[in-house]
Amino acid sequence: MEEPTNAIIQSSLDALMQDESFLPELTENMRQQAFTSLSAILSTPNKVHKSYLRVPLDNGKVVRIPSFRVQHNDALGPYKGGIRFHESVNEDEVMNLAFLMTLKNALHNVPFGGGKGGIVINPRTYSEKELNTISRKYVRYFADVIGPDKDIPAPDVGSGEREMDWMMAEYKKIHHGTPYLGSFTGKSVVNGGSKGRREATGKGVYFSFRYMIHDFLKEKEELLSSTDNVFARTTLDMAHRPLKVAVQGFGNVGSVTAHEAYKCPLVDNTVVAVSDRNVTLYNEEGLNIPALIAFSAKNKGDLPTTEEQLAEAGAKAEIRGRDELLTLDVEVLFLAALENQLHEGNMEDIKARIIVEGANAPTTEEADNYLSDKGVVIIPDILANAGGVIVSYFEWLQGRETQYDSEDEIYQKLVAQMKKTFDMILPQFYGDPFPLRQNCYIHAVSRLSKVLYKQGKLY
Ligand code: NAD
Repeated sequence: MEEPTNAIIQSSLDALMQDESFLPELTENMRQQAFTSLSAILSTPNKVHKSYLRVPLDNGKVVRIPSFRVQHNDALGPYKGGIRFHESVNEDEVMNLAFLMTLKNALHNVPFGGGKGGIVINPRTYSEKELNTISRKYVRYFADVIGPDKDIPAPDVGSGEREMDWMMAEYKKIHHGTPYLGSFTGKSVVNGGSKGRREATGKGVYFSFRYMIHDFLKEKEELLSSTDNVFARTTLDMAHRPLKVAVQGFGNVGSVTAHEAYKCPLVDNTVVAVSDRNVTLYNEEGLNIPALIAFSAKNKGDLPTTEEQLAEAGAKAEIRGRDELLTLDVEVLFLAALENQLHEGNMEDIKARIIVEGANAPTTEEADNYLSDKGVVIIPDILANAGGVIVSYFEWLQGRETQYDSEDEIYQKLVAQMKKTFDMILPQFYGDPFPLRQNCYIHAVSRLSKVLYKQGKLY
């Protein structure tokens, strides 16, 4: 597993070890032993499954495609996590993402464990028929280890409703006569998916920012004004000025986040920049986000890259280099693309004072430490981007009962669940010296540890 995760896990365990109110019944040698076990459990996955999918192509050739399913921990419930379709997927990355799912579910009190999958392909280079075969083969190769009460995949980068529908159909065929609706989440609504699932992650990402800068602050402003906590000062400062916003990534998460920021009546936001795998679009007066969403829907998910395409989209913008977005002079930066986007090479040029991690692990440990030391508030992945897994949980429950909620009901339930987590985390965050990520890790590890202890696993 990658180094940053281990370091922060260790410091969270150290903080808990010092906290006498945490599992007080564990003393001396037993306490030491329990923490040694915890560290081992958290830093390694329970199981790593790997296969080479054999796929016949349209041109008659046959390829073997490496693919993974990592099951990190199931102390809190069945393993749960997306399947990434991307050419750079590798075993270490999937292990790290599975670990983050364990923490995310623990933090938000979702009764699932952590898992993740990956298929090493660039989906853009395969036909629809080939993608259908790849998706079905993935289910066939991992048929024994997935299922509604074992391990429940969902979409991630490069996959969506279409792939989940195909995969569930294959699961149903293989496990004929057993419950199947809960085998995959992120399905289309007509196929047993939940209303609001597709938008859930992006909406949750924006909500996490809005809650911090507006809802929570409105109630606690007096309290925050009297503390000398550096992050409280940043938040207060940002809450009282117009905010320029940039969003990296314009896929499922980024486009919805940008749209939420664009239309939010509660915060004085201007979305001045968005980017995708090709380009940054910048307009100081604000971008026409609905027009860009409509364009990308018609153009395989891509933003306009030429003046002609901008005119076709009906949007005004300067066309800039893809990575320029990260160092623009904005107050708020939403990261909704891939991992390791803020790193040693660009961290000193980042001007945003609030960074919201829609993507998983978009900030390296060096950049995280550097920016946090400067008082930048980073709303971390496991806190900000849990909307998807929370609504996946609602989808799974709805599938069990075959009773479905309206989109409005789903959004209200999502917001209520995220609010509960924020109300648990934020007061402590503003009162102690840890950055928000560490605070979240401590809460997640603490919840997991108590369950592991009760299950008799900390010897
Ligand atoms: P997606 O495939 O729908 O979109 C990814 C976007 O990032 C695309 O617009 C792509 O062009 C862009 N991109 C790729 N490389 C880029 C680069 N170098 N610079 C700028 N943009 C780049 O994927 P998604 O589902 O939106 O996922 C984005 C991130 O959010 C991932 O880290 C994923 O793990 C995380 N996430 C997704 C969900 C979900 O429900 N989809 C839930 C939680 C977390």
